[in-house]
Amino acid sequence: MRAERILVIDDEPTVTSLLSRYLEQEGFVCQSASDADEALQYFREDSFSAALVDIRMQGKDGITLLREMKALDPDLATIMVTAVQDRESAVRAMKLGAEDYIVKPFNLDEVLTSLRKALEKRHLTLENRAYHQELERLVAERTRDLARRNRELSGLNALGATLSRSLDLSEVLSLGLDQLLQIIPAEMGGVYLWEGDELRLQAHQGTGVLPSSLDGSKGVAAQARLTHQPVLGAGLDRTLGQPSYLPAAISEAWVPLHKGAEPLGMLIVASNTHSLTEDDFRLLVTIGDQMSVALDNARLYGEMQRQASELRKANIRFSRANRRLRTLREMGASITSTLSLDERLERILHQLAHVVSYDSATIQLLRDGYLEIVAGRGFSEPEAVIGLRFPVAGHHLNMAVIEGRKPVILPNAQVAYPDFREPPHGHIRSWLGVPLVVGHRVIGMVTVDSGEVGYFNEEHVQLISPFVNQAAIAIENARLYQETMAAQQRSDTILSEAFTGIMVVDTNLRLREFNPAAETITGYQASEVLGHPLQQCFGEELYGGGSPLHQAIASGEQILPTETTIAGRRGRRDILLGVTPLPTERPAPTEYLLSFADFTELKEVERLKTNLVANVSHELRSPLSSIRAYTELLMEDLDEGDVEVRQHFLRVIDQETQHLADLITDLLNVARLESGGFEPHMLDVSLRDVAEETLARCQVQAQQRGIELLLEAPSDLPHVLADPEMMGILFKNLVSNSIKFSPQGGDVKVSLQADEEWQTVEVTDEGIGIAPQDLPRIFQKFYRADRTIEAGFEGTGLGLTLVKEVVEVHGGSIEVHSELGKGTRFTIALPMKPSLPGPDGPEMTKAGAQLLKGTDEEEAAHH
Ligand code: ADP
Repeated sequence: MRAERILVIDDEPTVTSLLSRYLEQEGFVCQSASDADEALQYFREDSFSAALVDIRMQGKDGITLLREMKALDPDLATIMVTAVQDRESAVRAMKLGAEDYIVKPFNLDEVLTSLRKALEKRHLTLENRAYHQELERLVAERTRDLARRNRELSGLNALGATLSRSLDLSEVLSLGLDQLLQIIPAEMGGVYLWEGDELRLQAHQGTGVLPSSLDGSKGVAAQARLTHQPVLGAGLDRTLGQPSYLPAAISEAWVPLHKGAEPLGMLIVASNTHSLTEDDFRLLVTIGDQMSVALDNARLYGEMQRQASELRKANIRFSRANRRLRTLREMGASITSTLSLDERLERILHQLAHVVSYDSATIQLLRDGYLEIVAGRGFSEPEAVIGLRFPVAGHHLNMAVIEGRKPVILPNAQVAYPDFREPPHGHIRSWLGVPLVVGHRVIGMVTVDSGEVGYFNEEHVQLISPFVNQAAIAIENARLYQETMAAQQRSDTILSEAFTGIMVVDTNLRLREFNPAAETITGYQASEVLGHPLQQCFGEELYGGGSPLHQAIASGEQILPTETTIAGRRGRRDILLGVTPLPTERPAPTEYLLSFADFTELKEVERLKTNLVANVSHELRSPLSSIRAYTELLMEDLDEGDVEVRQHFLRVIDQETQHLADLITDLLNVARLESGGFEPHMLDVSLRDVAEETLARCQVQAQQRGIELLLEAPSDLPHVLADPEMMGILFKNLVSNSIKFSPQGGDVKVSLQADEEWQTVEVTDEGIGIAPQDLPRIFQKFYRADRTIEAGFEGTGLGLTLVKEVVEVHGGSIEVHSELGKGTRFTIALPMKPSLPGPDGPEMTKAGAQLLKGTDEEEAAHH
């Protein structure tokens, strides 16, 4: 151990030498100084452990010296030497940092003790300081370490954040590399991605140059890929016998980037100035892991992005298609919301304007080889356009669309077709024609026109085609509907207007159709019978075995009209019935058409005519033969014989002639009444007078049968407005019938009554009466009850027909009550003031013939 140096300062040389000697004996090295300046000089030149300083010295005193020395070395152990009387100064020195003081005259041991103590303290202080300084150094070093680690970590952290912040691969890698170069003391870094066996530079940061691609099939790249182990070193490829990719680098690190076993790429960091440490390498491996994850994420994200963008594109395509479909559907709905063809055409052109903007447009339909414009829009004179017809054959433009079945664009219509230079097409510069196709059939075309040359393009065709296809179907449907409706209407009209009764039955013989004529003939309403089986409504003759319907069902063939009967509501009707199986889509017919004509009346008339011929010929023959007989008799004894007998003969002839004339009059009157009516001469007539006259004329006839004729009428019976001659006919026929059909005598009574509005005529007899089944028919022309004929009553069956006609002409009514064997009563009500058909009435009544009133007139007419 080196001896400690002590500086001894005192202006008394004895003191300094004494102390020095003593202390040197004790092993110290001493330097004496006789004043402060000398001491300071030594102090500056050499190092001292302690100083013994005399307080009271010549020149600068010990206190000042102490201060200056302590300023230079605060650890200097200082012991002050002072005289007894100056203890205060010593205390001051202690305050200024002196360790101790000794008082003169001092004991040397005391000095030594004090010095040793002070030196020990100094040593302790110095040791402590050294220890402290070491500690500080250590702390500083550790702090630096921590700070670096911290920097690394936060760098890594920031890198991680950067890597995960963006999913754009290049951006991520560039930022990542940038941060990497802030953590790792390297000048350049690059990330390569595998493309097959090649590594391609994806991102690059720093000052050096990295190759844009590396051959990854050999060298350090191949090794790192294979082993997944990062490699650190210098001239790595060279050590593997390959030419170095980084010849200038003094340190390089190759960190393989991979996801599991799958290699992704390579992180290469190189420094041309530093060697990379193991710490850097360790960090690089961590960074490599982070980059691998980021790469994988970015790759996944890229994949996701690609899928999303595809999805988005598909979605856009889909929603565009969807929108177009929806528009088409909406347009379709608007078009088909009407069934009228014309309205549909209008709407199509209207909607078309939403699909393609046009100046004018037409719809042309094929009719008999011509295209006819059936609708137009945008023309200044639509009337001039609608109905225009263009041939298809020989017309190149129309052929191109119709026969080519494809849209045709004319970019410059006026050049292509001179037609487009003339009104009403004069405004057209470009033209687009699209065929209307239904299934395999072209039904026409839609044309759109523009006033701009070259206006239409392929996109218009794309837009318009689906719409036109839809329109074609809408048009065709409306057309079919129209045709169907027209056909339906036609058959409805035929059915309802036909005079022939028409029924349609299904295989169960349920009624499906029943036309008004069938209603008239059968007396049933369609609503009563439709849906019911035939058997419930009509007689067996219609459907039973052997019936025309039965034959048609059995044979499947049409059965031509045959005579049969049908049971109607008011009895049987004679009909001519034909049955036709209706063609249906199925092989066997499922419906049958029954058409029938009612010829009941005809048959009746036929029967009546037969009767008439018999009656009339009989009626005519009997008076004629008696006239002839009496005439012969008269001619035989023209000059002889009894005058009375002759007169009797002549009377008979006269009577029979009269009878004949009456008969003919009746016949002619009925014929005339029926052939067109007649104009009655309305006068104020007293029916009482007419009745009296009639009864008087029938008196002879009545007397022959022993019948009493009675008249019951108030004397003040009012007159009635009527045709007097017709009234005569009315009374004559009723009264003579009553007489004729009363073979056993009895009374025939005519009673007349009147009220404000009506005058009633009643003719009552006590004769044979009329059977109930005959009652509805006695007014028919030529009808005569069977019993009447059988009983040999003469007659024509015309009398009551005339009576009924007369009553109806006067606006009255007639009723009959009868009981067989008891008698008959005819009741006639005539209006007091009949309202006759006026000038507006049917022509026939005005132009009608006059009724023949009797023999005289008739004869007059003949002559
Ligand atoms: P006609 O007397 O020439 O036979 P009408 O037309 O006058 O023809 O009468 C039609 C039929 O009505 C008669 O044939 C007869 O059967 C029946 N008839 C008419 N009047 C009477 C009556 N008063 N009593 C019974 N039968 C009558």
